[in-house]
Amino acid sequence: MQVGVLGGGQLGRMLALAGYPLGVRMRLYDTPAESPAQHVAEYRRGPFDRTAEIVEFLRGVDVVTYEFENIPVATVEALEQAGLTVMPPPRALAVSQDRLAEKTLFQSLGIPTPDFSVVRSAQELADRAARTAQILKTRSGGYDGKGQAEVTAAQDAESAWAMLSSMPPAPGCPGLICESRIDFERELSTIAVRGRDGRTAFYPLIENRHERGILRESIAPAETSDALQLQSQEYASRVLDRLNYVGVLTIEWFERGGELLANEIAPRVHNSGHWTIEGAAASQFESHLRAILGLPLGDCAAQGHSRMFNLIGVTPSLPALLAIPGAHVHLYGKSARAGRKLGHVTAWGANRSEAEARGQQVARVIRDAASGN
Ligand code: ATP
Ligand code: MG
Repeated sequence: MQVGVLGGGQLGRMLALAGYPLGVRMRLYDTPAESPAQHVAEYRRGPFDRTAEIVEFLRGVDVVTYEFENIPVATVEALEQAGLTVMPPPRALAVSQDRLAEKTLFQSLGIPTPDFSVVRSAQELADRAARTAQILKTRSGGYDGKGQAEVTAAQDAESAWAMLSSMPPAPGCPGLICESRIDFERELSTIAVRGRDGRTAFYPLIENRHERGILRESIAPAETSDALQLQSQEYASRVLDRLNYVGVLTIEWFERGGELLANEIAPRVHNSGHWTIEGAAASQFESHLRAILGLPLGDCAAQGHSRMFNLIGVTPSLPALLAIPGAHVHLYGKSARAGRKLGHVTAWGANRSEAEARGQQVARVIRDAASGN
């Protein structure tokens, strides 16, 4: 079996690693000269508009997938036209690239979402902010909290508008949207899988903690009710079925007053699912490969408890991390740069308190590295 992947970041690397024991060979394509995936699989470098070269490179694979959502939809469509099978379907990619299409999809499926609206002027934004605090976002191209500004009062509208409207618009969906700022209790995510035969499987809800828009920590399973778990699966099923989806899909939620509000989808494996490598029978990466290759889906139940910590900007001492029982270290082979995700550590425990205690040790080592100790 052979799989082609558009994108060669850490997600591509971990997909390739999950393919090894199953005998799946991977070919990855991305633009950077240095890429986390290039050390573990066949890697070709080039721009995404050279579709003829991409087709030539991927010719013969069983299926092509992607590992980040800013791949041009036109590229994916060109691969399909050249006879390659692409999963998840390009429509899912298109929806995830446009916050307006994404929120409209949630709305049409009866899935609660923050109030949102396209905004065309600083004045419109100021009017909305006068009623309730807003988050102004570019319709496309944002990630890790980039392309966003909080507008807590009408007088902030002008500067937020000036900052974001001067960013170069992405083709196809220019402009800005704003949404009500949700005073959430927690952020959660669902990692769902749908196979070629339409069967679905769900990992337990995950709790996510962000700092300055970047995911810092995930706790799995989240401490939550069965009712909320079922609700999340029900909502996720609606999205999967509507998009005729195949593969792993992630939905990010805000939890407020015991209810879920959908924030966004990612048509791919996700940072909040890295704990599944050690904390579930089938990892999200294996699940994605199983789904797109038409194989039976794996067991998505959590085994034990996990706390996943991102390594952002600095890599802590490896011996210090490895001295912690139950700590699993994943380094992506990237050079260090402020704000960059260089790796992650999953603290695993047989029960919640063990995972928490080990997680605290991991967090301490990461904090020491950040403060230069
Ligand atoms: P990602 O890295 O997940 O792709 P992103 O840049 O696409 O991020 P969002 O997920 O929309 O952006 O926002 C990043 C974070 O900003 C959220 O996880 C949340 O903490 C905060 N945030 C975004 N929208 C809202 C909102 N409407 N109300 C409150 N907080 C929000
Ligand atoms: Mg997000």
